[in-house]
Amino acid sequence: MLETIEENQLERDAANEALHLNRRRLERAVKDLQYLANYDSLTQLPNRALCMDRIKYALKSAARTKSLVAVLFLDLDHFKDVNDSLGHAVGDQLLKATSQRLQEKIRSEDTLARLGGDEFVIILNHIAESDSDKVIDIVEKIVTSFELPFKLSSYEVNTTVSIGVCVYPTDGGDVDSLMKAADAAMYKAKEVGRNTYEFYQADLSQLANRRHQVVNELRGAIKNHELYLVFQPQLNLATNRIIGSEVLLRWENPILGKVSPVEFIPIAESSGLIKEIGDWVLENACMVLSSCLQEQLKIRLAVNLSAMQFKQADLASQIANMLKDYNIPPQCLEVEITESMLMRDVNKAIEVLEKIKAMQIRIAIDDFGTGYSSLSYLRRFPLDALKIDQSFVDDLVVDNDDTAITMAIISMAKSLRLEVVAEGVETWQQFSFLQQNHCDDIQGYHFSKPLKEDEFKTFVREHRMDRILPKKNLS
Ligand code: C2E
Ligand code: MG
Ligand code: MG
Repeated sequence: MLETIEENQLERDAANEALHLNRRRLERAVKDLQYLANYDSLTQLPNRALCMDRIKYALKSAARTKSLVAVLFLDLDHFKDVNDSLGHAVGDQLLKATSQRLQEKIRSEDTLARLGGDEFVIILNHIAESDSDKVIDIVEKIVTSFELPFKLSSYEVNTTVSIGVCVYPTDGGDVDSLMKAADAAMYKAKEVGRNTYEFYQADLSQLANRRHQVVNELRGAIKNHELYLVFQPQLNLATNRIIGSEVLLRWENPILGKVSPVEFIPIAESSGLIKEIGDWVLENACMVLSSCLQEQLKIRLAVNLSAMQFKQADLASQIANMLKDYNIPPQCLEVEITESMLMRDVNKAIEVLEKIKAMQIRIAIDDFGTGYSSLSYLRRFPLDALKIDQSFVDDLVVDNDDTAITMAIISMAKSLRLEVVAEGVETWQQFSFLQQNHCDDIQGYHFSKPLKEDEFKTFVREHRMDRILPKKNLS
């Protein structure tokens, strides 16, 4: 009997050990696969896939810290001749030696990657706007470092490099457009005779023309009824009820077609048209609120304020008049302002916000986490809610940093007794993460895209019965 128990134990130990060994093998195989998928086997540098990932990450971080990222596209001059005349083995040695030389010229926070062949990319991170000369310094150092020959095992090879440089955000806002810009600049460097670098130059006259056209068309937009509002519902996660909606402005022009507010709001600001447009948005939002109230739809609308509007001396009294004219309880209106608007002149901002707050209008901070609000200041503003910026929500669950930041914002908001709204919620995973972590409200395509007035009212009516939404509707 005792023997059988011991035998069984031995068998179990052996089985456990085998399992353990298998798991270790599997883990190693997964690691190997991950390495192969992300690194170039000749130079051990990040490959194209990892390079694109790193650029994406660099842009996100730069957008938050308002810094620059430079993308350098490098191509060895006449590499094919080396390969053809001295053979592939020497070509490979040259690529390895090149990667070592390049690595020495960049900082530890930068990335050097090999795209394939004789093409390399360098990502220079965290360049302060005031420090953009640093990019030229580094690029010049790289070009001159090729003056020395490469001593390979049996040959000494002279080669030079052509580099195309572009800078985020000036030359592009996403990985694709930056890679295209850097590539175009590299071809320019080849054209002007190789062994040099070129910065990407957008066709500035084209940009100026577009701006000019946008301003011209925008002038008539209100009169010609080209502006309209859409409404993106916000859902309270504790009750599963729609509490309100963000009001988003749309513009459709006969010549320009649909123009994004991301493009035309800044142009409206710098051309002074924002006052008229901002008033139009507020008034039309009040009209919609008033008709919702008449139809027994108890919701709140959140209106985005632009920096210029926020600076207007009579903002508070203007909103007060509008609410009175349309007979709207102030609790039904929320204003969204960004962190940077608050931080520009803290004392003035407190003064304006206190006037708005005294009227019992709600105040939310938009795109929270991207600016530089100091926490001590945050306590001084009479706020009601924080909206976690879309860029954190985007990579929730898949990116540890973003997940940690989101959790930190939620817990900070709770301790400051503020509501937290997550915007840009697109997936079921993000939704359930936010629900589990006690985020108050969510807004995003997962739940609803921005809707026209009628569709929005129907949406609110259909979700009004305080019913728990079946999960299949949410995924
Ligand atoms: P915002 O206030 O942060 O608005 C959120 C933006 O995210 C909206 O873009 C919305 O359509 C979009 N969005 C919502 N859910 C999702 C999602 O799940 N995934 C993705 N990828 N995007 C989502 P939109 O309408 O293009 O507005 C862009 C920005 O333009 C706004 O950012 C706001 O800063 C500005 N804006 C829009 N309307 C007005 C306005 O009436 N006045 C002012 N001053 N600014 C406005
Ligand atoms: Mg907003
Ligand atoms: Mg936002």
